[in-house]
Amino acid sequence: MKRAKHSGHAELYQACDSTAARQRFSLETELRRAIERDQLHLAFQPLVDLKSGAVLGFEALARWDHPEKGAISPVEFIPVAEESGLIVPLGRWALRAATRTLAEWDRKAGSPLPVHMAVNVSAVQFHRDDVVSAVEAALAESGLAGNRLKIELTESCIVSDPDGIAQVLRAIHDLDVMIAMDDFGTGYSSLAYLQQLPINVLKIDRSFVAPMLQDKDSVAIVRAILGLASALGMATTAEGVESPELVETLISLGCDVAQGYHFARPLPSDEAYAYFRSRNA
Ligand code: C2E
Ligand code: MG
Ligand code: MG
Ligand code: MG
Repeated sequence: MKRAKHSGHAELYQACDSTAARQRFSLETELRRAIERDQLHLAFQPLVDLKSGAVLGFEALARWDHPEKGAISPVEFIPVAEESGLIVPLGRWALRAATRTLAEWDRKAGSPLPVHMAVNVSAVQFHRDDVVSAVEAALAESGLAGNRLKIELTESCIVSDPDGIAQVLRAIHDLDVMIAMDDFGTGYSSLAYLQQLPINVLKIDRSFVAPMLQDKDSVAIVRAILGLASALGMATTAEGVESPELVETLISLGCDVAQGYHFARPLPSDEAYAYFRSRNA
């Protein structure tokens, strides 16, 4: 699953007559520098068990505080990273930083916390990098057991190279690392592949969860995804849970885990640790 290195710079220079392309290129240059200088950081958003209210894990989300431009959203810089190939060092950094943080929390608590860390891995990284060795390195360096880590991937990973991804996911699964399908329902993955791959969790996309209280069709879609997950022996996590009413609805439909502003926004490391301590006291 490793391809020749990106050679798109000539194209990029040619495209620089347009302002948008110039801006994008300068963002790429600045992002490269930010990665080299270790100027990105992670925020951690809790994943909460809907029945008990306990925190089961955290999703690590990349943050970039630009010295002049302020906070730049991952919605903006992740696509730049993917197009430029910078997603490979960025993705490796995220895996290491996330596992290192969980190991620090364990040390602070004096024993392994009953939580895991979820890290996003881009489809581009699956194609260009050896994700298995990146995961192994992060586990070895942090000393975490495999089952403390979860990889979130999107359906686009499967669509572009189903056989390649199957092999990689099996190797990750063999390390005891959990695998979640992120933003489920927005992509085009076939149900045949879903069944064959070692996926532990379906994360139901926010675009279906958020409108559930006003929109019957969204409820029907969420219900269908929950039924599919249950039939395939997978757990479920609902994204974008912003209200107590949504919590009630999701519990009544049988969803396992939720994530969203109702519980907490993505938090700095020390606040995330404190959140866990207070919720799971
Ligand atoms: P995602 O993996 O689906 O992450 C969830 C996103 O939903 C996060 O946005 C989170 O802040 C946001 N969110 C969580 N709860 C709520 C809520 O209740 N309401 C609303 N409106 N939003 C909520 P964020 O941090 O801006 O990240 C956006 C996307 O960027 C992520 O979507 C993921 O695809 C990508 N991303 C972020 N960090 C990384 C990374 O380290 N590596 C890779 N490959 N992608 C990343
Ligand atoms: Mg995610
Ligand atoms: Mg998601
Ligand atoms: Mg999403």
